[in-house]
Amino acid sequence: MKIAEWREKVLEVGCYEAISEMLKRIEKSKLNAYITVCKEEALKKAEEFDKGKLKGKLAGIPVAVKDNISTKGILTTCASKMLSNYKPVFDAHVVERLKEEGAIIIGKTNMDEFGMGTTTETSYYGVVRNPYDLNRVAGGSSGGSGAALVNDECVLSLGTDTGGSIRCPASFCGVYGLKPTYGLVSRYGLIPYANSLEQIGPMATCVEDLALLLEVISGKDERDSTNAGRCFSFSRVENKYKIGVIKEMSCNEDVMEKYEETLSELRKFYDIEYVSLQSMKFALAAYYVIAMSEASSNLARYDGVRYGYTIEKLESWRKFSSKVRAEGFGEEVKRRIMLGSYALSAGYYGKYYLKALKARTLIIEDFKRAFEKFDLLIAPTMPTVAFKIGELKDPLTMYLADVNTVPANLAGLPAMSIPIGFVNKLPVGLQAIANYFNENMLLNFAYDLERLNIAKVC
Ligand code: GLN
Repeated sequence: MKIAEWREKVLEVGCYEAISEMLKRIEKSKLNAYITVCKEEALKKAEEFDKGKLKGKLAGIPVAVKDNISTKGILTTCASKMLSNYKPVFDAHVVERLKEEGAIIIGKTNMDEFGMGTTTETSYYGVVRNPYDLNRVAGGSSGGSGAALVNDECVLSLGTDTGGSIRCPASFCGVYGLKPTYGLVSRYGLIPYANSLEQIGPMATCVEDLALLLEVISGKDERDSTNAGRCFSFSRVENKYKIGVIKEMSCNEDVMEKYEETLSELRKFYDIEYVSLQSMKFALAAYYVIAMSEASSNLARYDGVRYGYTIEKLESWRKFSSKVRAEGFGEEVKRRIMLGSYALSAGYYGKYYLKALKARTLIIEDFKRAFEKFDLLIAPTMPTVAFKIGELKDPLTMYLADVNTVPANLAGLPAMSIPIGFVNKLPVGLQAIANYFNENMLLNFAYDLERLNIAKVC
């Protein structure tokens, strides 16, 4: 549901009634999109709106927030047993901004544990189901934020994207999702997985709504030292972009058919050429080495003393913290902590971590060259449509699914997934990547595609 449609509904029945209906829909839903539903708080805010007390750009709009984003006094679990009882004592920057603009936080969405995954199957709270086929995944790691949008279980949602976690569920659920330029949105209050790669970003069912949410969450915040201090604001420009189609980013036959159909549509309106970015072949390996290395360090804080899950005291500190971590973390998280520690260890640092950093530089340079010639680069967001639940049998096959999304994170570039229709009744997404802080161009391009009926949300 778009903001405009929500506002019409609120005019008709009032915000309290509209929110009550939404809460009922969530309760009955089979999607498992939420870990926590903020029932009482949401109804209280709706009442305030009806009394004319809630003001701002998002006044009375229900927004779903991914469960790795801190919400004061509200459970924030990262979909992990480790944080299953954790209630932050402060709000993330983006949550403060939502509240300042009058948004109603309807709940905290389900995700892969600590954002580690592409399907939400690593969640301690169970998989999120795809609204178009309940036997399939909604994508990950922000699966709940994608699925909730489709089933009208929220109007806007926030996801986080370390290696594709906004764009993947946007593609699998057929909605819009944008990973901003690194530094545009403050990460203050985002529970870190791999902080040199990740950004919080908006998800929505139309471009205008996506742009508005980005406006609200972007901006200066001194509490995140990587924050660029910039505010985003959407301005409409009509332009004939020069577009490069990235040769190295591919997909399977089903998706290819839809992708090529879209490319031939785009050729009618834009100047399109293929472009080769040779370093893309290093991206996946570099991403996983860097992401796991950072994860191994970031997740060291969960020792059973300061946060979350804990157990009775044991005879030694070593035994205590090992047991807490063995019981509190899921399989995928443990795998990444071990591999990341290995890549950072004295004998292997140069062979793996340093090598990955060098590959990262090559990728950044390749993009830089491409943007001298092109305004936008495009590719399929995901190489496939949504997977069947349980289809990905081993972790390496899952990692491969991120091949088209991780390069933008390694380079820190803004990238979005635009829904371009369906294959066998399952949504397909087109990925567009722009130069640093060129979100306005990305959104204008998506806006054009929406007007040309090339972009479609069901
Ligand atoms: N699938 C990727 C991973 O598991 C990306 C996850 C994300 O962006 N949070 O690392």
